[in-house]
Amino acid sequence: MAVKPKKTTKKKNITRPKKSVSLASVQTLANKYARLRDCFGNDGAGCISCGRWFSYEELDGGHYLPATSHYSSTRFDERNINAQCHRCNRFLHGNLRGYFRGLEKKLGRSGLDDLEAAGHPYKWSQDELRELRSYYNDRITAIGRGEDPRTFPNQGMAMSSLFSNLRETGTLSEA
Ligand SMILES: [Zn+2]
Repeated sequence: MAVKPKKTTKKKNITRPKKSVSLASVQTLANKYARLRDCFGNDGAGCISCGRWFSYEELDGGHYLPATSHYSSTRFDERNINAQCHRCNRFLHGNLRGYFRGLEKKLGRSGLDDLEAAGHPYKWSQDELRELRSYYNDRITAIGRGEDPRTFPNQGMAMSSLFSNLRETGTLSEA
C-alpha cells in the first residue's frame, strides 16, 4: 500500500514566552547599585553598621528590613540596602543595632520610620521585576559614566510608590 506523503504542517507563529526574571537576579542588581552608590567618588565606604572603612570588594549590599517574605515590599528599596561589611552582614546577622544607628544618621528618624512602614509582604509581578531590572541597570550604567547617584531622580522613594504609577498607566514615570 502506497504511503501517503505526510502533510507538511505549517508551523504556527508561536510567540515565545519571555524568559522569567528571578527575584535573585534583580536583588543582585539592587545590591550592586547600593554598593556603587555608597562608594561613589571613593574606593570604598564606611560599613552602615560598624562604620569601619572597607573597599568596594569587601562590601555587600546589606538589608535593614530582611529580604524575606515578611518584608518583600522593601527588598529592592534603595533606602533599605546599604554598603555593609562581610562581617556585619554575614556573621553578625546584619548587626542590626549598628545598622539602626547608621541608617538613622543617613535617612533621619522620619526617613527610617517611613522605610519601616513600607515593609510588608508583597508579590512582585514579572512586569515589575523587568522594570526594576532596567531601573537598576540604568543606574549602574549611569554611575559607570561618572554620574553622581545623589543627583538621580526618585532618591529615597519607596519602590512601591514608583510602581503604583506603573500599575495605573502601564508606563513608569520619570526614572
Ligand atoms: Zn561592619
